[in-house]
Amino acid sequence: MPPSTSRGAVEDPLLGPADAGRVASSLAAEYPGARTELDHRDAFELLVATVLSAQTTDVRVNQVTPDLFADWPDAAALAGAEEAAVTDVVRPLGMGPTRARRIIGLARGLVIDHGGEVPDDQAALEALPGVGRKTAHVLRGAWFGHSLLAVDTHVGRLARRLGWTASTDPRAVEEDVIARVDADGRGGSAEDLTLLGLRLILHGRRVCTARTPRCGDCVLADVCPSAGTA
Ligand code: SF4
Repeated sequence: MPPSTSRGAVEDPLLGPADAGRVASSLAAEYPGARTELDHRDAFELLVATVLSAQTTDVRVNQVTPDLFADWPDAAALAGAEEAAVTDVVRPLGMGPTRARRIIGLARGLVIDHGGEVPDDQAALEALPGVGRKTAHVLRGAWFGHSLLAVDTHVGRLARRLGWTASTDPRAVEEDVIARVDADGRGGSAEDLTLLGLRLILHGRRVCTARTPRCGDCVLADVCPSAGTA
């Protein structure tokens, strides 16, 4: 019988949690070049783009960031920007003034606490305005090369459908997925949690969508306990 996870994930031996190693290798074959879909040239741009991506899509963020970074190419420049001018640029994303205040505050935090540089440090990143655990994991995984799971809505949904967790709390989902990978994923491509997370996000966007999962087209259907029932 598959080992338990900490918060009551599916444990039916006939319909148990999907094997993490098989999930990871299937997704690796399906999405070999997985990378963040947020356009960026450096850590500052990736951090700002990730903060801007809250409650909107990467595609929409990519439509405003070229103008944003043309006018304010680094933390020092953005820290000194006029809020109204930044609002004009990010307005297409919705909540323009809020987003502008958020990224200007972030830039000021980078200047004041880190000389304008983006720190490769989880606690230091989470101490910056507008940066939480998920954003810090995205940044440190995608830019600095750490193995870190960034739990967004897609990763959470996939983890529940795959039987890896029963939780909707991102921190609990992260712990349960890591427990599953530790139990049966090590030695394979599941080892890189950053890539596993990116591939789960791509699969959640393209196949295992929230409302109409396409189980008939899914490479995970043979191991997924929710196949045909999600
Ligand atoms: S089989 Fe269906 S529910 Fe399971 S991961 Fe694939 S699309 Fe999602």
